[in-house]
Amino acid sequence: MGRLLFWIVLIAVAVWLWRHFKRPTPPRADTEAGTTPMVRCAQCGVHVPQNRALQHESRWYCSQAHLTQGSSSGDR
Ligand SMILES: [Zn+2]
Repeated sequence: MGRLLFWIVLIAVAVWLWRHFKRPTPPRADTEAGTTPMVRCAQCGVHVPQNRALQHESRWYCSQAHLTQGSSSGDR
């Protein structure tokens, strides 16, 4: 009978481990990216998430370099 108890414990542990690792963990990065609006870079036209974009005078830029280029070319 001890052998039967050993298998019951083994299966119980296996089920516990399976449920522990199968537990779904929703990726927060995807949900944040889904709610973040996309903006268009005024310099190169690429679409970037608004929280990663740089704003200058109601225009959006994908990087600091394009912000500098876009703002300098707009003044001239
Ligand atoms: Zn750009």
